[in-house]
Amino acid sequence: DNAQPRKPDWIRVKAPTSEGYHKTKDIIREHKLVTVCEEAGCPNAGECWAQGHATMMIMGEICTRGCTFCNVATGRPDELDAFEPGRVADAVAKLGLNHVVITSVDRDDVDDGGAEHFAQTIRAVRHRAPGTTIEILTPDFLRCGPEALETVVAAKPDVFNHNLETVPGLYPEVRPGARYFHSLRLLQRVKELDPTMFTKSGIMVGLGEDRQAVGQVMDDMRAADVDFLTIGQYLQPTSKHHRVDRFVTPEEFKSYEKTAYGKGFLMVSATPLTRSSYHAGDDFARLRDN
Ligand code: SF4
Ligand code: SF4
Repeated sequence: DNAQPRKPDWIRVKAPTSEGYHKTKDIIREHKLVTVCEEAGCPNAGECWAQGHATMMIMGEICTRGCTFCNVATGRPDELDAFEPGRVADAVAKLGLNHVVITSVDRDDVDDGGAEHFAQTIRAVRHRAPGTTIEILTPDFLRCGPEALETVVAAKPDVFNHNLETVPGLYPEVRPGARYFHSLRLLQRVKELDPTMFTKSGIMVGLGEDRQAVGQVMDDMRAADVDFLTIGQYLQPTSKHHRVDRFVTPEEFKSYEKTAYGKGFLMVSATPLTRSSYHAGDDFARLRDN
């Protein structure tokens, strides 16, 4: 039975109608870019795009993995597009962003997992939009040597984000093809390679995890020196995807937030509609200005 519990009223999505929304959409189309906002059918698109905030997805629309929560198509991706870093940089400059989030599909078909392409994109954005802070949300580079991660870190993004997505006990079901401790170690290595870089990770809740396991994930992240944490409600993209086990209440999110700050995270976003990239720019600016 794949039926999901009824959506509570705290999961509300505003219809995208504003002028800013359409301007963002035009710039994205014009530069032939893919966004997570659209691919994931993110409930915040109306709000984020109205403010010119979008999450760019590089290296194509087809992923070599098949996570059961994710709406991105699985298959054999196209060749990497050498002009993409330049197009992303142009779009970021045109959107006039203070902060950009750049993510990608998994490219297990490419030797370096797309590390060099990521690095080129970071450098291109830096060059075209020097005032924009750059947050990357990377794949796990599971099948690559240590150089892949080193290449990306050397390009000096401001925030290095890699999501653990769920508690370790749910990995076989939710994130087959990934390894919890590999992802954790990746975050730790980023900090070892460049202690000045902020690291960030996140999980979805409502997939069937229990509170204790969430607390353990927080401890694991802190042991790996992760600075920022996001926790949001999992929403099922289609009936073929992993079902929603339950809707976590806003009060429970509050309590996760409190626990997380208690464990020493510098910045925590834990609300039903929190996404890895939701208000990422505002949060980062707040932290920097403090
Ligand atoms: Fe896009 Fe992230 Fe905003 Fe969702 S939260 S619309 S993915 S920028
Ligand atoms: Fe989706 Fe990322 Fe998993 Fe690919 S690796 S299926 S893009 S969550």
